[in-house]
Amino acid sequence: MAKKSECELCADPGGDLLWEDALCRVVRVTDPTAAAFPGFCRVVWHRHVAEMSDLAAEHAHHALDILLATERALRRTVQPDKINLASLGNMVPHLHWHVIPRWKDDSHFPAPIWAGAQREDIKRRTADHAVLRKALETELSTLNEMP
Ligand SMILES: [Zn+2]
Repeated sequence: MAKKSECELCADPGGDLLWEDALCRVVRVTDPTAAAFPGFCRVVWHRHVAEMSDLAAEHAHHALDILLATERALRRTVQPDKINLASLGNMVPHLHWHVIPRWKDDSHFPAPIWAGAQREDIKRRTADHAVLRKALETELSTLNEMP
């Protein structure tokens, strides 16, 4: 496991910040890979841990709530055919999840985005940062109203 001092998610947000609380953050991915998947987000745990099972139960539940809110916000704003939810951490063993909107005609569908491209990329409109942020805030406020 990489030391905290060498970890890129300890040193850098990992994308453009959409939302954060004391435990985790949601960022819009800005890597070149993300261009073909507008709205591609990551949920990043602030503390350097490698596995979801390193979290206390209440923190794991919180992470799941944030993941679901992010997924719902993406479904509402970019209306993909599918959402891919992935937690790999092989390259960066700092707990984070990829929340990836997918379309049946995107460059890699139905393969994972990290596999080889299956066809030319269809240029889609970039997901608007402010719209995504607002949708995420709406989903999170709904979450907080639940008993
Ligand atoms: Zn880290």
